[in-house]
Amino acid sequence: MKINPDFADFPIPLGAEWIETKTMTLGEIVNDDRVSIGLNFVEDDADYKFVRYSWFNFFEDYLLPSVRDKIRYQEVVQSIDYSGNEVKVSSSGGLFSADRVIISVPLKVLQEGGIFFQPALPANKSEAIQNATIWEGFKAFFEFSIPFYGDGFSVPVSPKESGQKIYYDAALGQDSNHHILGLFAVGEPARMLSQLSSEELKINVLAELDEVYNGQASAFYLKHTSQNWQSEPHIRGGYLSDHEDWRLVKELGKSINNKVYFAGGEYTDGEDWVSVHTAAQSARRAVEEMLS
Ligand SMILES: Cc1cc2nc3c(=O)[nH]c(=O)nc-3n(C[C@H](O)[C@H](O)[C@H](O)COP(=O)(O)OP(=O)(O)OC[C@H]3O[C@@H](n4cnc5c(N)ncnc54)[C@H](O)[C@@H]3O)c2cc1C
Repeated sequence: MKINPDFADFPIPLGAEWIETKTMTLGEIVNDDRVSIGLNFVEDDADYKFVRYSWFNFFEDYLLPSVRDKIRYQEVVQSIDYSGNEVKVSSSGGLFSADRVIISVPLKVLQEGGIFFQPALPANKSEAIQNATIWEGFKAFFEFSIPFYGDGFSVPVSPKESGQKIYYDAALGQDSNHHILGLFAVGEPARMLSQLSSEELKINVLAELDEVYNGQASAFYLKHTSQNWQSEPHIRGGYLSDHEDWRLVKELGKSINNKVYFAGGEYTDGEDWVSVHTAAQSARRAVEEMLS
C-alpha cells in the first residue's frame, strides 16, 4: 500500500489504488459511516478511486491512531510455536507469548518458508499454501506533457490465467495538471517487466505506447517511476491469482486449533480475495472467530 508522494501533486499509489467495492465499505472497516461520506471519490468503471488521497492515507488517518503505540516496527517474525497452551512467537525483537495469534504476512512469505512453525502446519493448510498461484506484481507511472492516451487500454494476456497488463489514466478525477499514465501488471507481464532496468523499462513502455499512439509517447515523455513488489523482502510478490480455486482460498483462511488465525488479502472465506477491503473483512472475521 506504499505511495509516492513526490511524483505528482496527488499521491501515486504504488500498490492498491482502486476501491473495489461500495464506498460505504470504508465506513464499515473503521466502524464509522461518516468516513464514507466525508471522503471524496471518483467513479472508475465498476470501481472507485480516492481523490488526492489513497488507501495508505485512509489507514494512516482512520485506523493507525488507535493502535499506533501497540505496533512493534522493524521486527520480523521468524518462528511460531503453537505446541503448548500458549503460542510462542520469536521475532528479531525477542520472544513473545500469547493465548492466540493472527498471521497476516503475505502468502508468498509462508510459501517460501519465511516463518518456521512448531508443530508443522497441518497437511491441508500447508498443501493449500504450496499449491496457491501467486502472481507477480508491478506498477509504473509515466508522465507526459499532453494526455494523448485517453482512458488507456488493456494489453491482451494469453492465457488469461497467466496475468493482466493495463495502461490507464492515473490522474483520472484528481484535478491535476499532471498527465500521468499508469501501468498495472500482475502475473507473467509483471514478471517480465520487473526484470528490466529503469532505462529498459522506459524503452519497452514507450515502444509499446508509440505503436498504439503513433509515436506520441516518445515525443511527449517527461519522467517515470516504478514499483517491483518481488524485490520487497517482506512482500516478495503480487497477490493470489484471481483464477485460484475458491476451495483452496477457503482453506488458506481457516484457523488452526483455536490458536493460530489468518487474516489478510489471501486468507479469506473463499468468496472473494486480494482486495484491500477483503483483507480488512478477513481481519474482522478472524477477530470475531477468536473471541467467540
Ligand atoms: C500491483 C498491485 C496492485 C494492487 N491494486 C489493488 C487495488 O487497486 N485495490 C485493492 O483493493 N487491492 C489492490 N492490491 C492488493 C492489495 O494491495 C492487497 O490485497 C493488500 O495489501 C493485502 O493486505 P494485507 O494486509 O493482507 O497484506 P500486506 O499489505 O502485504 O501486508 C503484509 C505485512 O506483513 C509484513 N510482514 C511480512 N513478513 C513478515 C514477518 N515475517 N514478520 C512481520 N511482518 C511481516 C509486511 O512487511 C507487510 O507490512 C494490489 C496489489 C498489488 C501487488
